[in-house]
Amino acid sequence: MADFRLQMATQAGEKVARDEGFTSLPVKPLIIAERKELHVEKKPPGMKGVSGALIFMEPKPLLIYSSEHQNVGFENFSIAHELGHYCLPNHPEQIMQSGGQHFSKAGFSEGARSIELEADHFAAGLLMPDFLVRKLIEESEVGLQGIRELAGSAEVSITAAAIRLAQCARFPICVIVSEGTAVRYAFRSESFKDLGENIYLPKGARLPRSSTTARFNALASNVAAGRQATGECRLRDWFDTDRNPALDEQVIGLGSYGFTLTVLSSDKLSVDFDPDEDDEDATLEESWKPKFARGR
Ligand SMILES: [Zn+2]
Repeated sequence: MADFRLQMATQAGEKVARDEGFTSLPVKPLIIAERKELHVEKKPPGMKGVSGALIFMEPKPLLIYSSEHQNVGFENFSIAHELGHYCLPNHPEQIMQSGGQHFSKAGFSEGARSIELEADHFAAGLLMPDFLVRKLIEESEVGLQGIRELAGSAEVSITAAAIRLAQCARFPICVIVSEGTAVRYAFRSESFKDLGENIYLPKGARLPRSSTTARFNALASNVAAGRQATGECRLRDWFDTDRNPALDEQVIGLGSYGFTLTVLSSDKLSVDFDPDEDDEDATLEESWKPKFARGR
């Protein structure tokens, strides 16, 4: 799918957050859904395999979200995703054409249909609009701690915060979601891509055998229990590239999903990326372009 469609979806989410008057985090998608006169309900227990739904019916459209994980971040993303289907151009029409009912799968799954990807990007933009997250990201500690702060402030999952932070950060950072010995997907900040040639991790790539992540994943209970590990690595441990700076490798198990989040970053590399250095809006816009589609 074209990058620009996903960028548009992210920006549409940001615009809704702005238009609804949110001036600080967290953005509350439930409040927005109610203001838009949607009827909102929690998913009934018998409805399996979907994270939410949007059903066009009288007198009001029905938005169903998942509360089964008892996790506010998951709920917020679920509501925001369905709001995306309601607000994004052509989504209501597509849903109407297929019978007026849309059932969604959990966020940021690979190989999802285009309207699912667009709704995920809308949700990320809505819950973490650039005008509310830029300052927080630049003032937070580089790495996992900054991701935790964004997740806490925006009331989103650590994975959603990690992806958005990599998209928006001006310092070099790469977030990798892995399972077992393989990469599921990775997102790199623009400046991380500039650390060397060919900075790209395809889906299914093997984790470097000696990496902190590979050793962490070798013990399934590390992942399930949400343990953390920290190590050091070199850029070339992960990428077939020309340069080889030292990086911190921070790892956290994502619990029952069986996935692991790895954050590659470095305080030392980040000092070159002073957020006050240029205040040109146009340049900022350029450097903050959403890149959800990359690295899939
Ligand atoms: Zn959906």
